[in-house]
Amino acid sequence: MFRGRTRKLQEEILRLKEKENAFILAHNYQVPEIQEIADAVGDSLELARIAQKNRDADIIVFSAVDFMAETAAILNPDKEVYVPDPTAKCPMALMCPREIVAEAKRMHNGVPVVLYVNTLAEAKTEADVICTSANAPEIVEKIGGDKVLFGPDKNLGLYVEKMTGIKVIPVPEDGYCYVHVMFKPHHIAMMRRRHPDAVVMVHPECTPEVQEVADFIGSTSQMYRYARESEHEKFIVGTEVGLVDRMRREIKGKTFIPALSKAVCKNMKKNSLEKIRQVLLKKPHENLVKVPEDVADKAKRSIERMFELSEKGKVRG
Ligand code: SF4
Repeated sequence: MFRGRTRKLQEEILRLKEKENAFILAHNYQVPEIQEIADAVGDSLELARIAQKNRDADIIVFSAVDFMAETAAILNPDKEVYVPDPTAKCPMALMCPREIVAEAKRMHNGVPVVLYVNTLAEAKTEADVICTSANAPEIVEKIGGDKVLFGPDKNLGLYVEKMTGIKVIPVPEDGYCYVHVMFKPHHIAMMRRRHPDAVVMVHPECTPEVQEVADFIGSTSQMYRYARESEHEKFIVGTEVGLVDRMRREIKGKTFIPALSKAVCKNMKKNSLEKIRQVLLKKPHENLVKVPEDVADKAKRSIERMFELSEKGKVRG
């Protein structure tokens, strides 16, 4: 629980939220003071789905980066979706413009295209199906064939190839998340020496060398669930530090240690309580997420295909 000015700001936001009938979503990588006042905290797709189920809210404020808010807007066309900071963009999503995917399709005619949810809506229009870091191997297996065009994260692609035996052609050739490639095997080795009784969890956007030395590989939601349900009590967490904040707050009686405390996504951290307050007060036009209808329709088809292919229609987020 925060105090002083931060607490006052949180209370004001909670009042404005009621008044505007708003629903606030915060990604796992948001700062703790934002996570605390959010109606839901989770990964991008979990949050977009939660928003879909909330029929009553008039507006959604999505505290994350651009592609996540776009996905929420695509899945919730009847609601206005606002971002606290329109300049909070994911550099990895920007590595995969629509033209690169279209060109790869021309070069590899007939090969299915599986794109990670961490792409902009324009790129999603070129995909046969979307995947998350949690269900990527399952979706690639279900789409069929002996190879796929996969992007933009090369490390997630290598993980998929290893898990499924299906050849992955990366699009672009070397897409990556600058936060997850900060982790090196020697960071993990050092943390293991300091905490020999801890379980090491890492994200599949980390390099194969880092995945190799981990005990558990999974998306943020998979790590969260594993830590909550596992009999182990201490965890070294190899992803953006925001997830550690959430686990410490919500999973009582267990210990969470960041594998690398400088693993901070500065793009995610552009959001702040003050910016959320401004959005609720003024609803600035530039903070409203706009996806052209034709783009939204095509992107939605590839997202819905994922829901269809996922086990019993449920996404394992
Ligand atoms: S953590 Fe990586 S993938 Fe996520 S928003 Fe930041 S740069 Fe993009």
